[in-house]
Amino acid sequence: MDRIHKKTVLPETSTLILGAHDAGAELLWDRYEQQLPLCGFTSNGLNCRKCFQGPCRINPFGDEPSRGICGADRDQIVMESLFQATLDGVLESARMAALLAPGEAGHELPELGAALSPAASARLSQAGLLPVKKADLFAVQNSYFSHKSYLASTLGDLTRLGLINLDLLAQAGTAAARQQTNSFPLGTDAINVLILGHPPFALSHALEAERSGEKRINLIAGGAAPDHGSPELVLGAVDVLLVAADAAWPAVEPLAKRYGVPALIADPKRTAREVAAEVIDQACRHAQTAARPAGSSSAAAPASARPAILEQKEALRAGFAAGRFTGAVVILGEANVKQSFFERTLALMEAALGARALVLLGGELGSQTPLLTTEIERRKSGLLSTFAAELRTDGLAPISCFGSAFEIPQLVGLLNGLGEERQRPPVVAALPEFFRSSTWASAVSFLALGYPVQIGVRLPFWGSPPLLETITREWQRLTDGRLLAGPSLPSPAAQADELVGLLKAGSAD
Ligand code: SF4
Repeated sequence: MDRIHKKTVLPETSTLILGAHDAGAELLWDRYEQQLPLCGFTSNGLNCRKCFQGPCRINPFGDEPSRGICGADRDQIVMESLFQATLDGVLESARMAALLAPGEAGHELPELGAALSPAASARLSQAGLLPVKKADLFAVQNSYFSHKSYLASTLGDLTRLGLINLDLLAQAGTAAARQQTNSFPLGTDAINVLILGHPPFALSHALEAERSGEKRINLIAGGAAPDHGSPELVLGAVDVLLVAADAAWPAVEPLAKRYGVPALIADPKRTAREVAAEVIDQACRHAQTAARPAGSSSAAAPASARPAILEQKEALRAGFAAGRFTGAVVILGEANVKQSFFERTLALMEAALGARALVLLGGELGSQTPLLTTEIERRKSGLLSTFAAELRTDGLAPISCFGSAFEIPQLVGLLNGLGEERQRPPVVAALPEFFRSSTWASAVSFLALGYPVQIGVRLPFWGSPPLLETITREWQRLTDGRLLAGPSLPSPAAQADELVGLLKAGSAD
């Protein structure tokens, strides 16, 4: 913990990490450091444990072993890793949609709506990728290894998966909008219930009913809490944890125990009303005894069903037409322990704002919007205030949170609706830090729709240089989507320059 500046660039987060460390809490950085050094084969996607003859590994330097026991070589194994990661991410979206809205996925063809622009639709149809069926999730050709001559075709399967993913996100988003959870603030004089994962709708409804009494209760969605990048850091301010079946962060329950925060599971054998009543009862008991930092925010109002930016189509049109902004950067992801929290995100935000592009933050990075905005103000207050003053004419803000990945289909529909392909603002999707396969699946969705996608994490797919070449070149040929990623990860400053270049190139089209 002595190299705290390596863990995060936000001063507030450093203080929290040090405080948690002094209190004896085990945080993700400790667990990461115990894993080091990481396996070089795995980091490059050069191992395989797909069948029970393995696990196999490929020598990264060209020596033997150059093939797995079944005969798969480096390119095939790496492409399989990429494919499996994408499929895992899409299945995660499918699970979330099924949990939130069981039995509502009746349609066979993904409903892509406004997210699919006419130009993207024409491109994908020409490439034979439309229509795509949801059943393609189980029928893609790469159900085992791609034979060598089919490696490039796997990108077609990935594109189909990206389109199906969009539909699943939209479906989950519609269902989640019915659940009245807050994002922030955490009320220091209210009762805070932190919900990890997505509980069934009946349970969310029952919690909302319990909440409607006299008690001031915040229902906080885990992925939407301002947790400085780790839900573990938010535990000091919550009264009960509700852990749903799809909750991430497997270490959070023992940590909650250490803090004395009750953790309950969404037990399917009990009725939703029983579980909700116990959640609220335990939260109230905890709140009576918990020592809280000074502060006086109260129970937050339920978050609106749609983030404000998603309702501002006319303002966006007017602002762009008047030249008050030049483009938009959609920044999506979550802090990753392998890099200093928020360093790359802030570098890209500063570059985008300097180029007078709107910053649209989403996913778990979106829930840190107030923290990140404060940090940008601290570093670049003149830049931010000037841009903010210009945008105020249209009721826009330089930095906005567009919500979770569930809102990506709506956001893309909104951006598509700002004009014909060559007349609307250039948009770049950037994932400066992330670790979830579902976030990677969102990147694939952006690529499927033809957006440039900048990746700021070293992905475990680059053990095959020829495959990288295939992926970047062929994907652009197929969908017009440009994947800006590679084995030698550029510095945050270099990626910031690249981002500005992409925005300028988009404006010049
Ligand atoms: S490389 Fe082939 S034999 Fe080895 S684990 Fe993978 S599938 Fe099995």
